Amino acid sequence: MASCLQTLTSQFENRQAMIDYFSLLMPSDSAPLSEMQGGMSNALTRISQLNLEAYSRDRNYLTGHVSRLSPYIRHGLLSVADLNGTLAQQYPASVRARFIQQLAWRDYFHQMHSARPTQVWQDAETYKTGFSAKDYAQALPEDIALGQTGIKLIDQLIDQLLTQGYLHNHARLYLASYVVHWRRVAWQVGARWFLVHLLDGDIASNNYSWQWVASTFSAKPYIFNLDNLRRFAGETLDCDHPTNALFDASYEALAEQLFPYLTSEANG
Ligand SMILES: Cc1cc2nc3c(=O)[nH]c(=O)nc-3n(C[C@H](O)[C@H](O)[C@H](O)COP(=O)(O)OP(=O)(O)OC[C@H]3O[C@@H](n4cnc5c(N)ncnc54)[C@H](O)[C@@H]3O)c2cc1C
Repeated sequence: MASCLQTLTSQFENRQAMIDYFSLLMPSDSAPLSEMQGGMSNALTRISQLNLEAYSRDRNYLTGHVSRLSPYIRHGLLSVADLNGTLAQQYPASVRARFIQQLAWRDYFHQMHSARPTQVWQDAETYKTGFSAKDYAQALPEDIALGQTGIKLIDQLIDQLLTQGYLHNHARLYLASYVVHWRRVAWQVGARWFLVHLLDGDIASNNYSWQWVASTFSAKPYIFNLDNLRRFAGETLDCDHPTNALFDASYEALAEQLFPYLTSEANG
């Protein structure tokens, strides 16, 4: 048995040598490499490129000035406390507030997780969708796993997840909402799927965010429509494709369609 186990090489002369080594180990995996590159020097370069004034204005847009620091934080190259200290020397409190707020969300989810470690895969509350937990599928539909739903912008988002291992926060919200509310798949299933592919896969931030979308950790389900997509994602996703038509409605109409057992009062 022991002879079957092979120790993987972990030291390489350069990035290309590492790529060649893993290509040999996984010859059938022809997926392109993610644009995200690890290592401390890349993390420091990203910090030096931060523009927190622009971040405060446009972080919700898929083309916004987000940091893409999450994989470095997730893998322990940067601590939230150090980052906070470094930024405090460079920016006044009013400018760094929005960014620090996001780091605080991460800290909050981690504190939740360490206070209740066994709860991280359980519904914190019941769904506020008119459905109960047993109404949600326990397996990821194959078309979602493969990024072949036939809905242009959803497939574009899944492609980014599978090839880049990174999605903008708003893109994560759209995709999670589609999985849970349009396809009625349990949030745990979607959360597991994200954890497999995200380079910043972090059980606390990920699972509580999925629960927030699902409404088991928030007052109501998160949904979106095509107007919202056009506004925040129009420059990067093909929003005008006819297959996106299922999102082309008002929030009221979508809520009635997706959550038919809720009273109109609850939908509002
Ligand atoms: C469904 C879903 C799943 C998610 N899964 C993960 C995950 O597995 N790992 C993860 O680190 N984040 C997760 N997030 C939170 C957030 O989307 C990412 O942290 C953020 O998009 C990372 O990109 P960034 O570094 O450019 O963020 P920036 O906007 O530049 O934010 C700076 C840092 O703040 C933290 N942060 C930002 N937004 C959030 C947030 N909403 N919640 C918690 N921390 C935040 C991250 O550490 C991030 O690197 C998830 C969000 C959703 C909606």
